[in-house]
Order: sequence, then C-alpha cells, then structure tokens
Amino acid sequence: NLSDKLDAVFKKLRGHGRLTEKQIKETMREIRLVLLEADVNFRVVRDFVATVSDRAVGQDVLKSLTPAQQVIKIVREELARLMGDGEDNSLKLAAKPPVSLMLCGLQGAGKTTSCGKLALKLRRDKRNPLLVPADVYRPAAIEQLKTLGRQLGIEVFDSTINDKPVDICSRARRYAELNGFDTIIFDTAGRLHIDTELMGELKGIVQAVAPQEILFVADAMTGQDAVTVAASFNEQLPLTGVILTKMDGDARGGAALSIRAVTGKPVKLVGMGEKLDALEVFHADRMAQRILGMGDVLSLIEKAQAAVEADDAAAMEARLRKDGFTLETFLEQMQMVKKMGSMDSLLKMIPGAGKMMKQAPGMQLPEKEIQKIEAIIRSMTARERMDHRILNGSRRLRIAKGSGTRVQDVNQLLKRFVEAQKMMKKMQKMGPKGLKGMLGR
Ligand code: GDP
Ligand code: MG
Repeated sequence: NLSDKLDAVFKKLRGHGRLTEKQIKETMREIRLVLLEADVNFRVVRDFVATVSDRAVGQDVLKSLTPAQQVIKIVREELARLMGDGEDNSLKLAAKPPVSLMLCGLQGAGKTTSCGKLALKLRRDKRNPLLVPADVYRPAAIEQLKTLGRQLGIEVFDSTINDKPVDICSRARRYAELNGFDTIIFDTAGRLHIDTELMGELKGIVQAVAPQEILFVADAMTGQDAVTVAASFNEQLPLTGVILTKMDGDARGGAALSIRAVTGKPVKLVGMGEKLDALEVFHADRMAQRILGMGDVLSLIEKAQAAVEADDAAAMEARLRKDGFTLETFLEQMQMVKKMGSMDSLLKMIPGAGKMMKQAPGMQLPEKEIQKIEAIIRSMTARERMDHRILNGSRRLRIAKGSGTRVQDVNQLLKRFVEAQKMMKKMQKMGPKGLKGMLGR
C-alpha cells in the first residue's frame, strides 16, 4: 500500500549521510510514481511534487546532516496541507435550528450508514437529530435507515416509496420544526453512476431545504473513481464537505489525498468501520502521519541507520573476522556508539535488544571518556593497536605522555579493553546472527 511504498523510498534515503541534488531529484521521481500508483490524481501529484522539490532544494536539506529526515518532514507537511491542514473542517451547526445536513453520493458509498453514525455522534453532542430517508427507489433503503434508527433510538421520519423525495424532505423539515428537532439528516438516493435525473432530484432537495451542510460521501476504497465522482458532484451541487468512508480498508491514501485538492472542499469526517460509532473527525496532519506510517519504530530505524551505516557495519564485521577484536576495532566501535546518540532511548524501542547492547563494550561511557580513550589509542603504534599484549611499562608511559593522560588512564583502558574482548568472544560464539545484530545490521 501507499505507506509501505513511501517508506521504501525513504529507506533508500536514510542510508545516506548527505544528499546530492541528484538524489533528491531521484527521490521526487519515486514519490511521484508511488503517488500515481496509489491512485492520486495526476495534477495533484504534479503540484505536490513540485512544491516538495522546491522546498527540499530551497531549504538546507543538502547541507543538513539528516537530509532524509528533512525530506520526510517536508513531505509530511505538504501531505497534511494537501488534505486541508489548518482549515476549519467542523460541521456548521450554529444556524437557527433545525439545522439540515444532507448526504449525497453514489450507491454503496456509505450514505445510509453514515447518516446513522452521524445521528449517533450528534446525539452524543447533546443534539436531537431526526433521520430522513429520501431514497425511494429501493424499499430496502428506507427500511435500512429505519432499522438503524431503531438500533440507536433515534426517530426516523415516516416516508414511503410512493412519495417524491423533494416532498419528503420539505415535510420532514416542517415536522422537525414542529416537534423540537434541532438537526435533520437527509439520506438521499444514489446511483451506480452519475446521471442527470439524480442530479436534478438532489438539486430540488437543496432548493427545498437549503441545507447548512451538503456532504459528499465518498468510498475511499474506490480510489481515483471517488475523486472523479466527487468532482462532478461538486460541479453540480454546492457541496460543503466530504465524508470519506471505508478508511478502515487497506486502500487508504489515494482518495484522501486528492479529494480535497480536486474539489476544494474539506474532508470533514471519516468512516472507520461498519459499526455505528466508527465515524471520526478528520485530521489532515494525523492522516499524513498515518500515510507515512511513521511510528516510533520507523524513526528508530532512521536513527540507527543514519548513525551506523550499513557499510560501516559490514567493514567492521570483515575486520573483526580478519584481525579479531583489537584496540583499533574497539575504538571504532565506540565511535559508532557515540554517533548513535542516546542509546537508552533507542534501545527501549527494540524489544529484547536493550539488555544485550547494554553489556556491549564502550556502551555506557560518557562522551568525555570516549575522547580520552580515543586520544590514548591514537598515541599507540599500529603494532601496539593490533596486539595489546606488547604494552609494557615503558610503552604505557610513552602513550600516556603522548596522549596527555596518566598511566592509570592507560591501564584502565587496557583493563576495559580486555573485558570487552572477552565479551566479544562470547558473542562470536553466539554466531554471526548475534554479531550482526550488535553491529546494527
Ligand atoms: P449507501 O448506498 O451509500 O447508502 O451505502 P450504505 O450505507 O448502505 O453502505 C454500503 C456498505 O458499506 C454497507 O455494507 C456498509 O456496512 C458499508 N460501510 C459503510 N461505511 C463503512 C465504513 O466506514 N467502513 C466499512 N468497512 N464499511 C462501511
Ligand atoms: Mg443508502
């Protein structure tokens, strides 16, 4: 799905320390393809990629030490903006009651179900809604809404298939006024495809009851079709917003991304399941976050990969196999750890990894300590680094002087190293899996 594919694009980026303009271009090309595949409208994709590219090149992404994160951040912000982030997408319920809400859309989009969900939501907000079935073409449609009303204990206006939809709506409005309903929800008919007869009927209802909200109900599973249909409803009716249904399915993404851009109307609510309480207020920023699938786990991978690049780890592994664990590898390993930053917060996110890593060499040393160790090892000759056993008293003294430390410091380091070496031997016995895990692969 869209999330996985975008993630794959970003994963490639994460491996790099710095990015070139060419790499950013390539990334944008990939994002473009992924969005098109996810059924996002091509004009929307074109504009989106242009905006993101501009920002990525214009800002300091190239110079940044964490370019992948920068690019992802820009993509997330632009996705959110595309879906209307920052706009007011609340239902307009403030007018003099009864306030009328009309739902429209193709057959099977989820209008009737959404009417029930909406009624429940409004009643939870202390309103007193009346449900009105205006789909007279299928007897089952009226019955469906009546059943929902019974389940919820919410009154459903009495209409039959012999009535005219516009009449039903006008009568229902008068009934609501007389009987103290402050909100009316009109469930209208759909068709398999848009046709002029249906549009005429819907326009008639709009004229008769002048709804405060005319909500287009779109099935998110139908992807690009939902967007096309939304566009033509929007041309013919003064839509005020969109309800995206079936967002609990796995085809999420495409429709959510383009519908706001194509119609200019905000997504107000999303259906997240067949149950009557599965209707949520739409949050563009959260949706963007969800599309990018960036939970803790992803940011973890990002951190770890940026710090310990796969190449580093592979090189280290090869050297370990060739030379064994020497002072040289000890130093490198500590530097890798240093690059990873706060190990603790990182490790908490990997189940089971914390304990093992905590025992690893150099793991709990403060920055200053690591600097000292680095100075000491740098003062050793290549031979000394390869074989610490030749480090006698006079060599240790020379190294201490050379590194601006004391002999005790050199001794302490060597003690620590010997412990680490033992530890590595144990891990090597655990086999390549343990070692690779430890090196961040
Ligand atoms: P209408 O023809 O537009 O009135 O559509 P319905 O309300 O009858 O819904 C059509 C089908 O979609 C029904 O089986 C509903 O249960 C289902 N449905 C509606 N909304 C959702 C939703 O948010 N999630 C899921 N999974 N199914 C939904
Ligand atoms: Mg229906």
